Amino acid sequence: MNRKEEILRLLEEGYTTAKELARYFNVSLMTIYRDLKELEEEGRIIRRHGSVELKREEDLKGEGCVLCGKEIDNRLAFTYILKGGKKVHTCCPHCGLLAFPTLEKERIEMIFSRDFIYCNPINALSAFYVVGGDVSPCCLPPAFVFADKGIAERFAKGFGGEILSFEEAVKRMQDLMKKSQRVNFSP
Ligand SMILES: [Zn+2]
Ligand SMILES: [Zn+2]
Repeated sequence: MNRKEEILRLLEEGYTTAKELARYFNVSLMTIYRDLKELEEEGRIIRRHGSVELKREEDLKGEGCVLCGKEIDNRLAFTYILKGGKKVHTCCPHCGLLAFPTLEKERIEMIFSRDFIYCNPINALSAFYVVGGDVSPCCLPPAFVFADKGIAERFAKGFGGEILSFEEAVKRMQDLMKKSQRVNFSP
């Protein structure tokens, strides 16, 4: 087992600081910091306030949206998985759709979000989007993700908004943001 794997095992057992780890391996703090930095970049641990934690797949608490910085709620999260395993999380489909043009397409391995009604993870590329409308659980203008077109239609009938494909929703969200900026910042 290499040292990085061993570190993950020790964190599982309850080790929380670089100091403890350095003592365990009998190596310098610098060496441990280097390992931790790599593990952090690989998205396997979280470092905060001087302590180290394993990163749990479902635990996005404390992570901010790459776009707006808002704390991420698992239920609404919209996630890009990049080649090499790095994940880019946004707080909701609104930010998720806006993040798309900022990422290099070739680097995106997968995009997933959760069905707004059923909460099961779904492939964001083949989902149906309701963009706009009267209700917003997170950012404005809102966007909602559905696996089923019929449910998206019923949702839009009740709360408004347009039903779009992923590509259409990306474009629509950009247009809507341009419009709202023109209103806010025009002299
Ligand atoms: Zn956001
Ligand atoms: Zn949001």
